[in-house]
Amino acid sequence: MDYQTIRTTCPFCGCGCQMWLVRLDGELIQTIPDKCAPMNEGKLCIKGLNAHEFVQSPERLTQPLIRKKGRLEEASWEEALSLVASRLSAIRDQYGGDSMAFLSSARATNEENYLFQKLCRAAFRTNNVDHCARL
Ligand code: SF4
Repeated sequence: MDYQTIRTTCPFCGCGCQMWLVRLDGELIQTIPDKCAPMNEGKLCIKGLNAHEFVQSPERLTQPLIRKKGRLEEASWEEALSLVASRLSAIRDQYGGDSMAFLSSARATNEENYLFQKLCRAAFRTNNVDHCARL
């Protein structure tokens, strides 16, 4: 029997609750709140308590999808990111940066959100950037 616990951060919102994932024979089987974490002090909400379940869901998207002729087709990350960058750049060049708005995610870290707003302001030349937690 291969039993492991892995300390990590809940991915569901910006609170940053700390937790332990329990892995048994390669499968995540439980989420345990971290009693020593100052943020959550041994507590998790219902989303955090079930955080281990989505990781192994067969319905989880594991690679990008690009719509081609009305159908979503699997693509590489390089292809997907290249498409997004070229389409957004084309919109910026044709209509200006303020023709676009960007929304970030509470599932991203503070550092990722910081980089996101820098990308919006520096590369796409707009201050139209916000965060889903404010909606
Ligand atoms: S356990 Fe609940 S409150 Fe804590 S980070 Fe996860 S979703 Fe947010």
